[in-house]
Amino acid sequence: AAAAARPSSGAGGRAEAEGPSRATAMLRHLLLKLRATGPVTVAEYMREALTNPGQGYYARRGGIGESGDFVTSPEISQVFGELIGIWCISEWIAAGKPKAFQLVELGPGRGTLTDDILRVFNQLASLLSKCDVSIHLVEVSPKLSETQALMLTGGKVQSDPEDKSAYMKGISKTGIPIFWYRDIQDVPPGYSFYLAHEFFDALPIHKFQRTEKGWREVLVDIDPEVPDQLRFVLSPSSTPATENFIQPEETRDHLEVCPEAGVIVQRLACRIEKDGGAALVADYGHDGTKTDTFRGFRNHKLHDVLRAPGTADLTADVDFSYLRKMAQGRTATLGPIKQREFLKNMGIDLRLQVLLQNSSDTATREQLHHSYDMLMNPKKMGDCFNFFALLPHHRLVHPDKKDKPESKSPLPPVAGFDELLLK
Ligand code: SAH
Repeated sequence: AAAAARPSSGAGGRAEAEGPSRATAMLRHLLLKLRATGPVTVAEYMREALTNPGQGYYARRGGIGESGDFVTSPEISQVFGELIGIWCISEWIAAGKPKAFQLVELGPGRGTLTDDILRVFNQLASLLSKCDVSIHLVEVSPKLSETQALMLTGGKVQSDPEDKSAYMKGISKTGIPIFWYRDIQDVPPGYSFYLAHEFFDALPIHKFQRTEKGWREVLVDIDPEVPDQLRFVLSPSSTPATENFIQPEETRDHLEVCPEAGVIVQRLACRIEKDGGAALVADYGHDGTKTDTFRGFRNHKLHDVLRAPGTADLTADVDFSYLRKMAQGRTATLGPIKQREFLKNMGIDLRLQVLLQNSSDTATREQLHHSYDMLMNPKKMGDCFNFFALLPHHRLVHPDKKDKPESKSPLPPVAGFDELLLK
């Protein structure tokens, strides 16, 4: 069976038997670099292995789906994306139906989530008829952007359009303009819904170990004993990252920090504070409690993170407490709450009943039950995946609430989040 919830035990489990070790092009590149410059940070290793434009995992393989290396929720069931589409519409209505919105997806993979959302927008066309909707995809992988273009536009796209900061543009099957960018900063400003599904876990982390002499950074080096093999070492002294990324009050002995995730959340928070909208982050992760979660996946199995770089997906749990901190109070934050709670609050049970009623053949009904179980079962994806949102402060608290608590009707609740955790 496909590893639905990726196993979370231990880093770099040696779960996969491999043939004789042949150095991949990426490994050869890294060996040259390490010989020339000495050990590199885990973040640098991860960035190379995943997004190096020539040999990186997402540039070459990017194996999302049953036939690839890992399966994600949008790939398991269309219901997932439909409910996220409804979440956007619900927030758009709560904001008083602004005249335009941008749907911005970070790391869209095969494009399935946006495709399912666009179907919902199309079904609600009369509601959205006066609203100017556009799609903005932030994707670094040329290979995956091609897959997305095929899925969303049928492949009719224009590269390097002159009028935009985008590197590609096209029109969706339902007539909505779509733009591709490499960086969130290139996306034009404006009222936007930002979605990040299994995106932050792919961003490079720094790893730290507490020692008797203080914090040391975990680095990647060549193993002197075995040719063409990498190993972890500790920095002999503190590094710029140990100085800057560890909180004085930290109690854990081993730590993973993803500064790139922090920078992106800062940017999202600034944009939402200025232009309105919301960000919805869904990923596996924790609220500042876990230690060693760096791991690799290939063909749905755990894969040693240092072995055959570029051929396996590398990932680390998202630290939601860090994301919350990096919003720096510019927006309110909600969550993290478990996927099964979020989807339940979004009405997944009702949607399942409707789909079951509309399908008479046994195979489809079984598939519907099976995919529901994958998404909702606490032992599968239900518990380890979390939803987290950034929203403008005024979305959760009336600005004049303190002075005149009874003066306004209550704000509509934010769909999906049962409890409003105002932090
Ligand atoms: N959201 C999809 C895909 C998850 S895989 C899903 O859930 O199915 C991670 C995605 O992020 C891929 O599309 C990958 O190419 C993209 N990605 C990884 N690092 C990125 C970066 N630094 N900037 C933009 N996209 C990135």
